[in-house]
Amino acid sequence: MTLLGHGGVPLVDRTTSTHTTERQISHLKKIEITGRVARECISIAYGFFSPLDGFMTKETVDTVCTKMELPDGTLWPIPIVLDVEADQLTAGGITEGDTVYLTHQERPLAVLEVSDVFQYDTSDMAAAVLGTREERHPGVRMLQAMGDTFLGGTITLVTEPQFQSPFDRFWCPPRQLRQAITEKGWQRVVAHQTRNVPHKGHEWLMKGAWFAANGDLPVEELHTGVLVNCIIGPKKVGDYIDEAILLGHQELQDAGYFRTEVHLVSFALWDMRYAGPREALLHAIIRTNLGCTHHMFGRDHAGVSGFYDPYDAHRIFERIPDGALGIKPIRVLEWWYCPVCGEMTYSGLCAHTDQKESISGTRLRQMIQDRTEPSATLMRPEVFTRTLACADRYGFGSPFCTDRYLADRDPVFTLEEG
Ligand SMILES: [Zn+2]
Repeated sequence: MTLLGHGGVPLVDRTTSTHTTERQISHLKKIEITGRVARECISIAYGFFSPLDGFMTKETVDTVCTKMELPDGTLWPIPIVLDVEADQLTAGGITEGDTVYLTHQERPLAVLEVSDVFQYDTSDMAAAVLGTREERHPGVRMLQAMGDTFLGGTITLVTEPQFQSPFDRFWCPPRQLRQAITEKGWQRVVAHQTRNVPHKGHEWLMKGAWFAANGDLPVEELHTGVLVNCIIGPKKVGDYIDEAILLGHQELQDAGYFRTEVHLVSFALWDMRYAGPREALLHAIIRTNLGCTHHMFGRDHAGVSGFYDPYDAHRIFERIPDGALGIKPIRVLEWWYCPVCGEMTYSGLCAHTDQKESISGTRLRQMIQDRTEPSATLMRPEVFTRTLACADRYGFGSPFCTDRYLADRDPVFTLEEG
């Protein structure tokens, strides 16, 4: 059976390298790529970004920026580009029409058919995609840090990434995930995007979205699942360590708060642009390719420090053409603990808004940092315990990224020969 991805075309698979063994590419010119480009190369190859089969050409970047579409009219919100320094091309004698191989950490990762070499004003790209040129937006800084030249063209993976523990058990690219969904018998799958260790608000977000997605299905058997899809990318000091995010979510299942029949934890490699509404669309596309039918969008999805209205990411789905996306957004407000009701409540449901005890991320983080167990209305005790265990095992004692973690952590994946 042909698996279809975003845009209704067969899922891209650029991982089978029948004629690109390492020996066969050793004569090719090579370019060392950045960590972000390597992660995007892997995401393209496994179909997370289907229908993209390579890095964008100038024509494609133009239509993405101005019309939020690929040249053939398929919805696409964010440029996926391979940036290099012009010096790298000069030194390697690389021009349009060449076949080159891309190396990461000095190991071959993929082959690129160079079909376009171009310049693009990254400030214009920022204005179009992020809605701002201001340097205090991290997405603007990411664009500014890019090399001065871009290479467009299709890619084929040469070396499959070897994911390290604990990432290996959560690596479930689109084809494998479709298989897992079939095995679980899920007819509907609602995606939860996260970069956090789950607190009770997140848990209720998932439960509420599960109910919304399950909707009118018969209840005799469960045919709806929650896919927790963690974003793994560059980290900064103070972020939760990646291992705690994945294992914290897995703990909700291990401790029985979600049965394996309705819950699956995985991850996608992606460097957040914090592009708010446009990024919400990209997340929807990635999860469409993973086989999801629904995607939850909460407050300030993929936003950053006041650049977008907290519910801009909800509204953009009203502005895209019918049929442009094969996944339904589930727009969620906040879940919080109401001391009058004595339980979790949803924004706008009960009449005790003046009693609202929002789950303060800052306060919760401080408690975890201090190893003070939060109340069960804030976080499941098992998740707290698992987070501290991750801190000791992976975080040099801290559940949050420190300079030491950023410098000395084990890599998420390596490109050793299999
Ligand atoms: Zn209440």
